[in-house]
Amino acid sequence: MSPTPDRERSSPNMSPAEFRAAAHAAVDWIADYLENVREYPVLPSVTPGDLVDALPNAAPEQGESMDRILEDFRNLIVPGITHWNHPRFFGYFSVSASGPGIIGEMLSAALNVNAMLWKSSPAATELEQVTLGWLRDWVGLPPSFFGVIHDTASTAVMHAIVAAREQACPEARTEGRKPDLVLYTSEHAHSSVEKGALAVGIGQANVRLIPSDADFAMRADLLEAAIRADLDAGRQPFCVVATAGTTSATSIDPLEAAADIAEKYGLWYHIDGAYGGVAAIVPELRPLFPALARADSVLLNPHKWMFTPIDLCAFYTRKPDILHRAFSMKKAAYLETPGHERAMNYSDYGVPLGRRFRSLKLWFVMRHFGREGVISIIRDHVRWAKELAQQIAADDRFEVTAPVKLSLVCFRLKGADEPNRRLMDAVNETGKIFLSGTVLGGQFVIRLVLGNVATRKDDVDLAWQIIRDCAAKL
Ligand SMILES: *Cc1c(COP(=O)(O)O)cnc(C)c1O
Repeated sequence: MSPTPDRERSSPNMSPAEFRAAAHAAVDWIADYLENVREYPVLPSVTPGDLVDALPNAAPEQGESMDRILEDFRNLIVPGITHWNHPRFFGYFSVSASGPGIIGEMLSAALNVNAMLWKSSPAATELEQVTLGWLRDWVGLPPSFFGVIHDTASTAVMHAIVAAREQACPEARTEGRKPDLVLYTSEHAHSSVEKGALAVGIGQANVRLIPSDADFAMRADLLEAAIRADLDAGRQPFCVVATAGTTSATSIDPLEAAADIAEKYGLWYHIDGAYGGVAAIVPELRPLFPALARADSVLLNPHKWMFTPIDLCAFYTRKPDILHRAFSMKKAAYLETPGHERAMNYSDYGVPLGRRFRSLKLWFVMRHFGREGVISIIRDHVRWAKELAQQIAADDRFEVTAPVKLSLVCFRLKGADEPNRRLMDAVNETGKIFLSGTVLGGQFVIRLVLGNVATRKDDVDLAWQIIRDCAAKL
């Protein structure tokens, strides 16, 4: 591998020949990576600052060759990577960049479309409409739901909260925040709900974290009691956020009861299905998600459990007019486009003007796997998680600490927290699997999540073997 001296280049830009050679090398690296990913330790053995110390303090004065850049990618960057695309990454939420998703991502980078207006990107705008329509049908939402792609669930929930504010108090758009608007969610809701509320000026003090029941689901009776107490105190409830698959335990809030309460008090009802929502594609799991269609807005992350590279969150609302009212601006003269009833301008439905062409990778994923392919993989994950939970429960040393509704198993060694933390560290130090922890009901628990497209049953068996071996050595 001999670096090309930069003075031989006729232009600072990459030549087509140079692009072809380097891109082929990069694709070969990707294919080898996907083929051999199990041989990598899931977690890198690095200490904070290693990469910073290994790289120069200043960017190069003269351009460097692609050979050298790719060599440094392999030798410096890859050893510092936590392999989220590893089939035995079982921590946080296990995700995947599948082959078709990676190809869609590469092509979208090449086109470099800005999907802000229909005119700036007709195919990107319309493919977003089409793919989100397909996904809406797959999860069983009615056609009245309008979809828009966001980067993450955190961004999407913030948009839901702004729409909720627009519904409750349209004058806030011009007059600014109203001090007594109150939002309700569960103590097990993702932190992005509270963050979204504080970002748009609702204030953390106006976010009620409703206690949950023994299965970590929001208590509907306490939700209603909290709303009534705020009404009695002269405050203005405006939004309920329920979770379909919480981050700690994949518990599912009482979606019907929360819908009834939101409806009774005229509140915007949002359902956060960031991880769990895609399971509604599987017919026998759909009943876990009643009332999706009664939500004012719903989100799910194909970048979590639908084999799509980060980032892609699908956000749906059945009140697109309110979302539009909240976010549309009088267009600057340079953005004006002739109106046409079929020409959608996505930037009118959210904060970003510039938008990536994310729907391309989703389209590749949905076409490559088809609905049946997606169903069979999610179904396997859920079955293996339930089987693993049975094995864990059958071992006297362990207990399963939350019902296994989807593909997350929460478990622990019976007894104190400390041995459990040591067990998790010991397991992760093997490099063969990665697990993460959380606290449920005041106790530390270990989480094992299945979600990677390449995970096989023998990966799960190996995980259980390693957990038992490490527990025996404690
Ligand atoms: C992961 C997760 C989020 C946040 O997702 P991002 O896309 O990373 O913002 C929100 N809600 C739930 C329930 C999650 O599991």
